[in-house]
Amino acid sequence: MVLAQLGGSISRALQQMSNATIIDEKVLNECLNEITRALLQSDVQFKLVRDMQTNIKNIINLDDLAAGHNKRRIIQQAIFNELCKMLDPGKPSFTPKKGKTSVIMFVGLQGSGKTTTCTKYAYYHQKKGWKPALVCADTFRAGAFDQLKQNATKAKIPFYGSYTESDPVKIAVDGVDTFKKDNHDLIIVDTSGRHKQEASLFEEMRQVAEATNPDLVVFVMDSSIGQAAFDQAQAFKQSVSVGSVIVTKMDGHAKGGGALSAVAATKSPVIFIGTGEHMDEFEVFDVKPFVSRLLGMGDWSGFMDKIQEVVPMDQQPELLQKLSEGNFTLRIMYEQFQNLLKMGPIGQVFSMLPGFSQELMPQGREKESQAKIKRYMTMMDSMTNEELDSTNPKLMNESRIMRIARGSGRQVRDVMEMLEEYKRLAKIWSKMKGLKIPKKGDMSAL
Ligand code: GDP
Repeated sequence: MVLAQLGGSISRALQQMSNATIIDEKVLNECLNEITRALLQSDVQFKLVRDMQTNIKNIINLDDLAAGHNKRRIIQQAIFNELCKMLDPGKPSFTPKKGKTSVIMFVGLQGSGKTTTCTKYAYYHQKKGWKPALVCADTFRAGAFDQLKQNATKAKIPFYGSYTESDPVKIAVDGVDTFKKDNHDLIIVDTSGRHKQEASLFEEMRQVAEATNPDLVVFVMDSSIGQAAFDQAQAFKQSVSVGSVIVTKMDGHAKGGGALSAVAATKSPVIFIGTGEHMDEFEVFDVKPFVSRLLGMGDWSGFMDKIQEVVPMDQQPELLQKLSEGNFTLRIMYEQFQNLLKMGPIGQVFSMLPGFSQELMPQGREKESQAKIKRYMTMMDSMTNEELDSTNPKLMNESRIMRIARGSGRQVRDVMEMLEEYKRLAKIWSKMKGLKIPKKGDMSAL
């Protein structure tokens, strides 16, 4: 079950429950069973799901629910909190410091995306002004060094490896020493993976760790491995002191529940997620926005935080007023496109809204997206004030569409496409009607 489906199933279960006239134990149990099923199908480990169910039952007071409070929100908040708890091991992972040498060792099964992730991690930091370097201590897989070399060269990151040396411990130590002398502040060691968890893999990993004494061991896990996630993560944790987790391939048909299991098994936080094969398809992982998305709630908490953080105080009321009215006009879309193109503070805010960034401006395709947005804006330039300020979709009849197409030198189908985009964004925007500013982490106002 992919994440969006999981969110959908949970939302449906909550909806069904809140449709019931009386919420008694039976209705609540049915709702929780439904949610349990959805989580299990998403590959969250059975024990975790069972514990979560028990915790929610302990927290929720049926009398409160009967007293006319918004049941859906109370339960949604309880699930939100429980999932956050599952993903938050309670202790932060080691954070390297710029300018001070840190050795980061990457471990994981073959095919998990380890080598790709090493480069993504290095590239991410390089863009922020670090001096990363890559060491290939994977002597098991033929071609591993070539792959790392190719990735590193593309990203202009120094690398170390050998075609002739077969001892991974020696390569790792030599590589780390070389880069320490060169004052690199982030030395990333890629280790061998195997198809299965084998004793020899763990022994080799342990030896590399002992010899290089890494500041942080990162466990890389493919998000599609399913229920095996917990055992796999635990096996790695038992051999080396895993300090954090990176979950890869979250873009595919990933069963994101594995991430929850890996955190529980290693008691280490997820620090990044991989969202594609490209070097920059890599995102810092934040628990709350992730869970919000998992529950189909969008990243509203982050969104509200961001508004307060980056929008100048005097502009906040106007923006919030527009949001809370829920009326999305073509003019608002035009203004937001301007912001998005500038990527100024408000642009950053809107990039957090589900729908604005991922679909309109997907990562890695920024150029195409910008061209599309500019095209839409040219068409909107040919619109009348009445059209721009209207919230009535019927206004845009055939003759108006033809006029706009002619006026902007585009085809009718281009105008139709732009109007479809408008409808999609208007739908998202309308969800914010009546919006109140929630306090940090409080989802009850949403
Ligand atoms: P390793 O054997 O663990 O070192 O795995 P690789 O780094 O060679 O990755 C295995 C495959 O997964 C390659 O084809 C990568 O391009 C792909 N891959 C890695 N990370 C991601 C990701 O986040 N998303 C997608 N779609 N593919 C990924």
